[in-house]
Amino acid sequence: LARLRRRLAGSNNALGRGLLMLLSRDRIDEETWEDFEDTLITADLGVGPTTELVDNLRTRFRVEGVADPAQAREILRSELLALVDPTMDRTIHADRGDTPAVVMVVGVNGTGKTTTVGKLARVLVAEDKEVLLGAADTFRAAAADQLETWGGRVGVPTVRGAEGADPASVAFEAVKVGIEGEVDVVLIDTAGRLHTKTGLMDELGKVKRVIERQAPVSEVLLVLDATTGQNGLTQARIFREVVDVTGIVLTKLDGSAKGGIVVQVQRELGVPVKLVGLGEGVDDLAPFDAEVFVDALLE
Ligand code: GDP
Repeated sequence: LARLRRRLAGSNNALGRGLLMLLSRDRIDEETWEDFEDTLITADLGVGPTTELVDNLRTRFRVEGVADPAQAREILRSELLALVDPTMDRTIHADRGDTPAVVMVVGVNGTGKTTTVGKLARVLVAEDKEVLLGAADTFRAAAADQLETWGGRVGVPTVRGAEGADPASVAFEAVKVGIEGEVDVVLIDTAGRLHTKTGLMDELGKVKRVIERQAPVSEVLLVLDATTGQNGLTQARIFREVVDVTGIVLTKLDGSAKGGIVVQVQRELGVPVKLVGLGEGVDDLAPFDAEVFVDALLE
């Protein structure tokens, strides 16, 4: 969590500082609120949440009579926190039942899917879970190689098929091997070629159905690159049509990403951001914590 705080501080602080600076003006007038809105929109918060936040702040500033910057900060903090929604269940459901827990990881190529599977395997292994990876992105041989490399790095085996094999059959095989080996979690990496939207839909739907012939899927994690802003939202919409997404992983939040996207994707999908990617290293995955996130903004 300390790492999350530190990494987030890099890019997002500018937003928090900007907001606090506006609120510490001698006179908070119409122009201040407009500047405030602009700052939030620029930070990828989206028009709906921005309007909601500003309306709430205006009301509270009026009713509570804001006297000093510390009080302004407290009000801003509580309203931002409400937007991020600390009540959402952000647990990764990966406990085995009669069969291994199956976690599907989906998303567009390049968002950080394979890297996330590797890092997540690391987290689960650290929880003393036995983990198996399934390379259901059979479109590029390099994808399976990359996953296998991650498997080696974190010490877990990978089930893969031949290049061009049916992704569903590889996923089926991985789960079968997982059941036979009585592992705790099977993590399935999938393909994310968005240019063939119907193909992708058919494929991901089929992968899930085929897995469920043997074991229930406990999580479908959608990986989104936080630096892509609105583009990430479009992707989220498309994936929502294809599979029931249960959680979002926002990657590259260590870079030039703008934190507001957290609020937008959660609203768009109605599911929580559960994990955040904070770098390319094996330990650079953290559980998302609403309070830490908001505090990092306002540090
Ligand atoms: P995939 O095609 O979706 O499987 O994406 P990859 O896992 O291959 O990742 C694409 C690139 O993004 C790689 O260079 C990763 O090292 C990088 N990457 C993934 N996650 C993060 C992250 O959280 N932060 C940063 N800075 N880079 C990341």
